[in-house]
Amino acid sequence: MNKVIITCAITGAETTRKQCPNLPITPEELAQSAYESYQAGAAIIHLHVRKEDGSPTADIATFKKAIELIRKKCNVVIEITTGGAVGMSPEERIAPVSLEPDMASLDCGTVNFGNDYIVNTLPIMRQFASEMRKYKVKPTLECFDVSHIISSHILIEEKLLSPPYHYGLVMNVPSILPYNHKLVSDMLSQLPSESEFTLMGIGRAHLPAIFGALSFGGHIRVGYEDNIYYSKGVIASSNAQFVERAVRIVKEAQKEIASPSDVRKYFGLRE
Ligand code: ZN
Repeated sequence: MNKVIITCAITGAETTRKQCPNLPITPEELAQSAYESYQAGAAIIHLHVRKEDGSPTADIATFKKAIELIRKKCNVVIEITTGGAVGMSPEERIAPVSLEPDMASLDCGTVNFGNDYIVNTLPIMRQFASEMRKYKVKPTLECFDVSHIISSHILIEEKLLSPPYHYGLVMNVPSILPYNHKLVSDMLSQLPSESEFTLMGIGRAHLPAIFGALSFGGHIRVGYEDNIYYSKGVIASSNAQFVERAVRIVKEAQKEIASPSDVRKYFGLRE
């Protein structure tokens, strides 16, 4: 794909309103933030939902409401999480795929996550891939390690995934791969042909990963899930502010921004 896809991960499971006063939490706030990010140039919204108290949930009714409200406002591609949050069961995490979002994240391995851990065994991955296939939801293969990419090869061999594959390479969560070009190259060396990748730099790797994505021919992810600081000590005023900066950088690099319909066509999503 020649154009650059910008994904905005508007809330995530970990960021709190205490850390980030403008964090969207309710379905209405999520829809508004998704719309502003779309207007700024994001083609994909990566969506988690929260309970009213701000804690993460995989509640189907909440996902349904957020998806409906976003769809009322715009045709941005909606990618829900199935990574959920630390402590959720696989059944809880995969259930919202039945709402037929356009895309969903599919974590490709078990990993330490700061002081916690996230479990994704091969049977869980197979189950998630099959459910996504059943509901025609395009997976984003989230990999936190080179070995996760190797695990995704098994799903490909078992014909549980179809090309073009979309990888989300997550770097710089404490306890996983830090962000540097050597490790990005190691990850990229294991991607199958017919792959696109989005490079996600968490925290202070956020901005370097935007430039890295452009140099390595990948796509960009921004948003409060990954990072709340616009610059040192300054919390971003909105998710859209991150998208606006990413758009400026892409344009300066003389590349085009992918629209939601470009993404729908390329990955064969519903129009
Ligand atoms: Zn997420």
